[in-house]
Amino acid sequence: MKDYYQKNKLPEAVQPNCPIVQSLKGQKAIVTGASSGIGKEIAIAIGKAGADVIINYASSIKGAEEAVKEIEKCGGKAFPFKADVSNEEEVVAMFEEAKKQFGSLDILVNNAGLQKDAPFDEMTIEQWDRVINVNLRGQFLCSREAVKEFKNKGINPNISCAAGKIICVSSVHDVIPWAGHVNYAASKGGVSLLMKSVAQEVAPLRIRVNAIAPGAIRTPINHEAWATEEAYSDLMKLIPYKRIGEPEEIGRAAVWLASDDSDYITGTTLYVDGGMTLYPGFETGG
Ligand code: NAD
Repeated sequence: MKDYYQKNKLPEAVQPNCPIVQSLKGQKAIVTGASSGIGKEIAIAIGKAGADVIINYASSIKGAEEAVKEIEKCGGKAFPFKADVSNEEEVVAMFEEAKKQFGSLDILVNNAGLQKDAPFDEMTIEQWDRVINVNLRGQFLCSREAVKEFKNKGINPNISCAAGKIICVSSVHDVIPWAGHVNYAASKGGVSLLMKSVAQEVAPLRIRVNAIAPGAIRTPINHEAWATEEAYSDLMKLIPYKRIGEPEEIGRAAVWLASDDSDYITGTTLYVDGGMTLYPGFETGG
């Protein structure tokens, strides 16, 4: 194994040589929490794949405007929209804006999320509620508005085989317990059964609901886990594939899950994690 590593000089970054296929041409999307990190790259990837996109942001418009520019460069349409996904009125207003700008909606990506970490016995109600409200209630509110719109719109076979697609950004912590992050793990575990239950309920309407569970992806949310050499090396103990993931990789997975290429897939979680869920402690036989 050591020889293999030396011989192959494992590359860090990934720039796969894949052409941009406009698999989402003519579709309309909302991506939440899309002014930074994973959400921003998902929005750009979906825009490059041919969809028009509402770029939802919570506070700073700068990142949202950058995503808009990237999409416009590829000939797509995109609009920033400020809304707190845990606020019902603001979520309803965002879906109204999508209808106003685009006429309809085909794709929702529930990406907005945050952490408020604390040892369990010191965790405050505010820390618990904020994480559950953004990460879980936010996905409920946005998915509910999306299903209403998909149901109302129905299927347009010239655009997609499905009436609509929802992608819930979860985490490997929907199955891996996480000490010191109990509120976060509980929210992502909740997302997992929210996603499956909604998928079961709306499948007869030809609405697909799936999740992407990222492992360690290089974004601001986990900066301290990869920013120093020591932290990065510790992180690698948890990743059999021996590199961190990049937000663009989640973008590519989202485009595929939103496209008709995955039309028979619903109620599934796609782990994009370099093997983090493969019990890395047993990598050398345990
Ligand atoms: P990030 O902090 O860059 O992105 C989170 C985004 O959500 C930010 O743009 C933030 O402004 C937005 N947001 C927060 N509260 C919001 C609210 N109330 N309404 C609307 N938007 C809000 O971090 P990220 O890593 O890109 O995280 C994106 C998603 O991926 C999150 O759901 C996170 O839990 C999940 N995730 C990330 C990783 C990782 O390693 N980075 C791993 C697993 C899961």
